[in-house]
Amino acid sequence: MQVLLVEDDAALAEALTQTLSNEGFAVNHLAQGKLAITAVKTAAPDLVILDLGLPDIDGTEVLKAIRKQSADLPVLVLTARASLEDKIIGLDLGADDYLAKPFEVDELLARLRVFERRASTLKHAGLSIGDVTLDNASHQVMVKGNIVDLSRREFMVLKALMENVGRVQTRDSLESKLYSWGEEVASNTIEVHVHHLRKKLPDKFIQTLRGIGYIIKPV
Ligand code: CA
Repeated sequence: MQVLLVEDDAALAEALTQTLSNEGFAVNHLAQGKLAITAVKTAAPDLVILDLGLPDIDGTEVLKAIRKQSADLPVLVLTARASLEDKIIGLDLGADDYLAKPFEVDELLARLRVFERRASTLKHAGLSIGDVTLDNASHQVMVKGNIVDLSRREFMVLKALMENVGRVQTRDSLESKLYSWGEEVASNTIEVHVHHLRKKLPDKFIQTLRGIGYIIKPV
């Protein structure tokens, strides 16, 4: 799951990035609201963690801009403004959840897991293409009803391709779904994941578009 973290407190952002990465989230961190609005368009995160007190524009403006673009991108608001009034404003503008600073990291992780479950429930149906079925809730992949063993990142590559059936996924877009910004990624990493995936999947299930990326064609 790709998380966009919008937080101008560098120490907090670093600690959260570390914790969330350890938990298997790919975290992209930005410290400014305007950049965050752009990143929601270009990086297509699965979830936004948004601080309301930002240096350039107010976090509520970011939230409004996000909601104009996407009605259902989950947004978890973080803020030191713990008053009930602010909480109501945040929820009115379309935040999905709200956490007042200071908070326990465990509390944040618990909220994120709720989002994850919700997302996988929503996407649960329909991820079956040909002989391959991908179950988001259990993180299981089956070929002709038999479970195949995938690494976490192989699973994420396959999920990205299956969720975008018929649409090319470039190596860059796959990388951005699997790795945090700034994380060291070898240039052939995605090829290696796809190579391993192919050994476990039906012939020609994942097709290569040379120099561009990969595609799963609808069956
Ligand atoms: Ca702040």
